[in-house]
Amino acid sequence: MKTMWAPWRMEYILSDKPDACVFCQALDVSDNLTLYKGSTTLVVMNKFPYINGHLLVAPCRHIAALKHISKDEMGDLLLTVEKSIDILKEVMRPDGFNVGLNLGRVAGAGVEEHLHFHIVPRWFGDVNALTVFADVRVIPEHIRATYQNLKPNFEQLPPTISK
Ligand SMILES: [Zn+2]
Repeated sequence: MKTMWAPWRMEYILSDKPDACVFCQALDVSDNLTLYKGSTTLVVMNKFPYINGHLLVAPCRHIAALKHISKDEMGDLLLTVEKSIDILKEVMRPDGFNVGLNLGRVAGAGVEEHLHFHIVPRWFGDVNALTVFADVRVIPEHIRATYQNLKPNFEQLPPTISK
């Protein structure tokens, strides 16, 4: 298998990071990476994905730690993770997922101050599982095309998933 560089990932690693929080910005600005804005949870495409279909699910509030999330927010957050996985399964048909939190820079957190779950779809034969969070990988489909494929399903989700 041939490995390709994802230049936008290297761009991110080398670039000056913006001062404003990207998740709070996603709530304000209507960009073309935000898939879902609910009452307490949002879903955005990772602009610098590890692999095609890499999504980020965050509480709308600017919260850094799980202990600061209310029970309602937690319920909605996890249900939104579940719904996002369902949509990725339906649209992209991956064989599995890596789902998790990167807490702290040492663990790979790019935005430490606003908690977010990573959802990384995986296909048999894509890349080495253990390096998925640490390296540059093949992105076979352009991020905008993926966004267009996923968006209609996210538009059908209600504002509060837990109700
Ligand atoms: Zn924020």
